[in-house]
Amino acid sequence: MLQQTQVQTVIPYYRRFLKRFPSVRALAQATEADVLKLWEGLGYYRRAQNLHRAARDIVRHGGRFPTCAAEWQRLPGIGPYTAAAISSVCFGEPRPAVDGNVRRVIRRLTDPPLGGRDGPSDRRIAAILQEAIPHTCPGDFNEAMMELGALLCRPRAPACGECPVQRWCAAFRRGSVDHLPPHRRRSRVRRLTVVAAILVRNGRVLITRRRPNETLAGLWEFPGGKKERGETLKEALQRELREETGLHVRVGRRLCVVRHAYTHRRITLHVFLCRPLAGRARPLENAGVQWVRWEDLGRYAFSAADRRVMEQVASTVTAASRRGEAFGPP
Ligand code: SF4
Repeated sequence: MLQQTQVQTVIPYYRRFLKRFPSVRALAQATEADVLKLWEGLGYYRRAQNLHRAARDIVRHGGRFPTCAAEWQRLPGIGPYTAAAISSVCFGEPRPAVDGNVRRVIRRLTDPPLGGRDGPSDRRIAAILQEAIPHTCPGDFNEAMMELGALLCRPRAPACGECPVQRWCAAFRRGSVDHLPPHRRRSRVRRLTVVAAILVRNGRVLITRRRPNETLAGLWEFPGGKKERGETLKEALQRELREETGLHVRVGRRLCVVRHAYTHRRITLHVFLCRPLAGRARPLENAGVQWVRWEDLGRYAFSAADRRVMEQVASTVTAASRRGEAFGPP
């Protein structure tokens, strides 16, 4: 949970997760839908799917946890950093964990840079740390390195005056702290216009599940998709529904517009009330479609953007549904 996410955000999720899945067996026996539901809102859902698959692998091998980094890395979602962190903290293996914070500390400590402008590679950093890591308390060493990077040797305005390794720091001695590591140009953020339909039939709303190869895989959503160049919003929605569900629809009034930011994407989501005209809702390959009662939507895992849609349109949909407005049998 802590990969890419701050501790304060994680704590309530962590507690709920352990209460619901107190053992690796309990997690292995759960459905993916259950796991995603508990993860809902935390983002980076691939982590939840990998954790679930890893629990199943562990149980399949007798319920025994790996005890060294090499074995941990055979599990889904566990890379060198996580494997080293777990094996050093939990099993006392002297294996350095190299994350972004540690990388920055080593980069500054070793100025003039090892490895040229880009600095030493992760392998070189791991080799440097491998010589320094103690065999008595390797977990403490790794945690101390991470904390040093996170709390003192920050990317901007590092607290060199309080730093316990200042006397060995080459960047401090040379006055190059502020230039290391060199600032990288931020990757471009894509802006997307997306459309979605609130499609109701016989008091039930249509939801679809995202496919395994898509972002937010496994989550449910209101059907729709990306607007292509040259399309109007309504044309885009009609095309997406036809392609995704096989339904022909009449697009009614717009219910809301939700803006949401992901790491490399900003989406503007236009949500319309729609009426099915013809066709029968069917899933794309490996996806899912379901007609569910509005009050049961809480049982399904949705993205944060779709949760905001629900909040904004709940009263409108319920009132319109009561009046029979824009809804009806196909
Ligand atoms: Fe980082 Fe400053 Fe400490 Fe060097 S002295 S390791 S730059 S905090």
